[in-house]
Amino acid sequence: MPTTAMNGYDLFQHLGVSPVINASGIYTDLGGSRLSPKAWAAAEAINNHFVRMTDLLDKSGERIAELLGVEAARITPGAAAAIFLGTAACLAGNDGDKSQQLPDVTGMKRDVLIQAGHRYKYDRQVAMTGAALREVGSQNGTRPDQLEAAIGECTAAILHPAHLDGKPGTLTLEQVVKIARARGVPVIVDAAYMNYPTSIMGDYARRGADLVCISAKYFGGPNAGGFIMGRKDLIQAVSNVHFTRYESGKYLKLGRPLKMDRQTIIAVLVALEEWLAMDHEARFASYRRQVAMLEQRLSGLMGLKAEPKCFTMDERFIDEPVNCLLLTFDGKSAPQVARQLEESSPPIIAILEGDKIGIVMDVLKDDEVTYIGDRLVEVMSE
Ligand SMILES: *Cc1c(COP(=O)(O)O)cnc(C)c1O
Repeated sequence: MPTTAMNGYDLFQHLGVSPVINASGIYTDLGGSRLSPKAWAAAEAINNHFVRMTDLLDKSGERIAELLGVEAARITPGAAAAIFLGTAACLAGNDGDKSQQLPDVTGMKRDVLIQAGHRYKYDRQVAMTGAALREVGSQNGTRPDQLEAAIGECTAAILHPAHLDGKPGTLTLEQVVKIARARGVPVIVDAAYMNYPTSIMGDYARRGADLVCISAKYFGGPNAGGFIMGRKDLIQAVSNVHFTRYESGKYLKLGRPLKMDRQTIIAVLVALEEWLAMDHEARFASYRRQVAMLEQRLSGLMGLKAEPKCFTMDERFIDEPVNCLLLTFDGKSAPQVARQLEESSPPIIAILEGDKIGIVMDVLKDDEVTYIGDRLVEVMSE
């Protein structure tokens, strides 16, 4: 395939896949985010050089810990990987034999607790290590005495999803930490998208979480990037279960399939540095400008109502900060319009929710917003 002469669009076409216009925001299935020119340039620059991966992982982790004001950190291939590796670190500690024995948990602490009201899609990563996920309390809630009673000899960790922290009936992170600390049980927080305001990224560790999992897809990093941060001994234990020194060391470590490229590692670090230094007000202003652009293009169209909204990371439409235009229809059905957008060439993938369509600006360029506006005008006049 004559790749050098081709742009991205041609490359996709040559393979027989269609590039899509991503009006949905950051989704793993759509490729995550768009790497910034700086992150891309860093990945390209490092492509020319080799490095000991152990050194790169140690030093990039130290740099992240310094940036976020936490004890230690380590880059992982995503937040789901961070949950998996963090759990395995709580099972095996710094014991190489145990890292090799996993996912057979015989003789190890092997239970990971989760409040029943906190069950969510990514808790599945826990069981992949060999650990057993045990629910505490009921859907209606969990009481402190229930969590205390659930902790035993075999308890390896507690998983606490940050986006469900404070859910009515459930114990808050502070309550969980207090109980867990007294029993020496680490608390793992999934804070995959908790990155704005940027100070909250390090806050979970400061609030007592022992390990915190972050996804790079949400801060403009690689789709297969992220990191874990927290207690130094546990981050050390993460390296004991991750992919390096599999051939050269003594142990066949559990995390070998979660290998990383040096280019990805550097892109995670550069994207994080950019995210922390970014003028986020300007980022929001840019979404508002694009929303206004689209609203203007659609103004006066019969049968369509457009409202600036915020499409949140947990997939709800709220008022602020605006990053999306929410469309409702009179005379057409939203699923029908969504289908027509998807059948466009190139296809437009928007958020369809009930009788509404959301056009989300998070990763759209201006010319793509113009294209979406033009298509919507055509669709509405059909
Ligand atoms: C996306 C996401 C993950 C997984 O992150 P990856 O970096 O894609 O592995 C985990 N938890 C939550 C809440 C997420 O939204």
